[in-house]
Amino acid sequence: MIIVPEKEIGALITRADAFTAVESVFASMAKRTATNFPVIREAIGHADALYGFKSGFDRAALNLGLKSGGYWPGNAAKGITNHQSTVFLFDADSGRCRAVVGGNLLTALRTAAAAAVSVAHLARRDSKVLGIVGAGHQAAFQLRAVAEQRGFERVVAWNRTASKLDGLAKAAGEIGLPFKAVSLEELGAQADVIVTITSSFEPVLLDRHVKPGTHLACMGTDTKGKQEVEAALVARATLFTDEVAQSISIGECQHAIADGSVTEGDVGELGEVINGDRPGRRAEDEITLFDGTGVGLQDLAVAGAVVDLAVEKGVALEVDL
Ligand code: NAD
Repeated sequence: MIIVPEKEIGALITRADAFTAVESVFASMAKRTATNFPVIREAIGHADALYGFKSGFDRAALNLGLKSGGYWPGNAAKGITNHQSTVFLFDADSGRCRAVVGGNLLTALRTAAAAAVSVAHLARRDSKVLGIVGAGHQAAFQLRAVAEQRGFERVVAWNRTASKLDGLAKAAGEIGLPFKAVSLEELGAQADVIVTITSSFEPVLLDRHVKPGTHLACMGTDTKGKQEVEAALVARATLFTDEVAQSISIGECQHAIADGSVTEGDVGELGEVINGDRPGRRAEDEITLFDGTGVGLQDLAVAGAVVDLAVEKGVALEVDL
């Protein structure tokens, strides 16, 4: 069995590797050669923790396994990350454990890669201004990955606490993009691509904020009750997601589904667009919205890539189980 420690992962996998792995597994999901299994998520009644598994099997890539992890709110006080993840991969032919891979950085990379894949396939080619809503742990990963997909000339961003935008400003500076903190009205009026990555439970970005032709990657809503954009904006957009069942139950589309302004049939899979089986953007003034809910197969895809790279570069630890 191979172990790839968390500390090795940053030097092993690039954003381009993560993009390729996620794009390929979305395509496989749409072809029904990859399946996510039901998600388990439980409050364990200890340390206020939420713990669970996301698992699945990609028959095309022979990636079988699960991501185990959750949220331990007391961790920050101990100097460790609140979100904790570990990926376990199994040999699809024998069921033996093939690899254990640190999953914290991978979660951020695969989530940012999903938004980037949506931008690559759905945003206007001439997109110049990138808007980011949110400035938490995931936000800078999103900025870096999405910025590579179009010839962006500047970044505008909004966060509930404006002083926390410094990290995003630094990330934009590192890739040579001018950065400005703006109001939500300014952000919607200027941005051609908007990533929302907050843990909000009420709409932050409203329908009236967003101009025609915008592509939105809504990445923060992954639980029942969370909401980042107004349901009317969802209803106005052409909708894409990683997995329809999640989008309508725990994703950004849940609210427009609940108020009846959107039906399940209105939500298409990004994988179908990748495979050429569904049109992507059809008009320059169309609003496209990717509801990135986060699926276990994304984790397995990037973990599989990391294991291959670790073996290739001789940094995989091998143990007998
Ligand atoms: P974080 O705790 O580091 O940051 C949270 C962000 O949300 C901050 O910018 C905060 O200001 C903002 N926020 C919280 N409540 C808000 C409100 N009511 N209005 C406006 N802004 C608000 O979190 P993170 O690690 O950056 O993750 C952000 C979100 O992304 C979380 O909801 C997380 O569950 C989700 N997430 C989704 C995926 C996926 O695959 N879709 C993967 C990882 C994380």
